[in-house]
Amino acid sequence: DWVDFVDFYQRIIDRFEMGRSQKVTFQTKLPKDAIYVEIDTDKLTQVLDNIISNALKYSPEGGQLRFKVEKKEKEIIVSVADQGMGIPRENLKKIFERFYRVDKARTRQLGGTGLGLAIAKEVITAHGGRIWASSVEGRGTTIYFSLPFDPTNEDEWS
Ligand code: ATP
Ligand code: MG
Repeated sequence: DWVDFVDFYQRIIDRFEMGRSQKVTFQTKLPKDAIYVEIDTDKLTQVLDNIISNALKYSPEGGQLRFKVEKKEKEIIVSVADQGMGIPRENLKKIFERFYRVDKARTRQLGGTGLGLAIAKEVITAHGGRIWASSVEGRGTTIYFSLPFDPTNEDEWS
């Protein structure tokens, strides 16, 4: 489906903000203009649901989630940043592997199967994008993904 990614992302963020039970604040930094991309909206919803659920799951009370979309020349970079416990550097790449969970004892009580980010990687790759993470232990984690975006399509929509 062709959708305005900014609107699509905002709706997902709104849904989480309405339903949140913890004391976590939300901050969004989204472009003012629409960015039309061709995506499988069901699959991208699943990807964002997992990334945002993870961010909430590992956020401390009073933490902040930051949601961003940056428009580059031929791609958009979407990110979700939290102020949680972070992920050790040596594990940063492994979180996208099936069934991988950083700390079995820690994550067992939080639930989950360790599939969410592996599925996210599959979906983003199938869309021609990349997914990666940056993290500082004790400070927080940011999950990024890119989606190709064709600037020549812009004219057709204006
Ligand atoms: P599922 O998504 O299948 O319910 P899960 O959340 O454990 O289970 P993933 O979403 O694939 O699985 O994440 C893999 C692991 O990466 C998590 O178990 C956790 O250890 C780590 N992780 C993911 N996101 C974060 C985050 N925002 N902060 C800290 N650790 C994270
Ligand atoms: Mg998950």
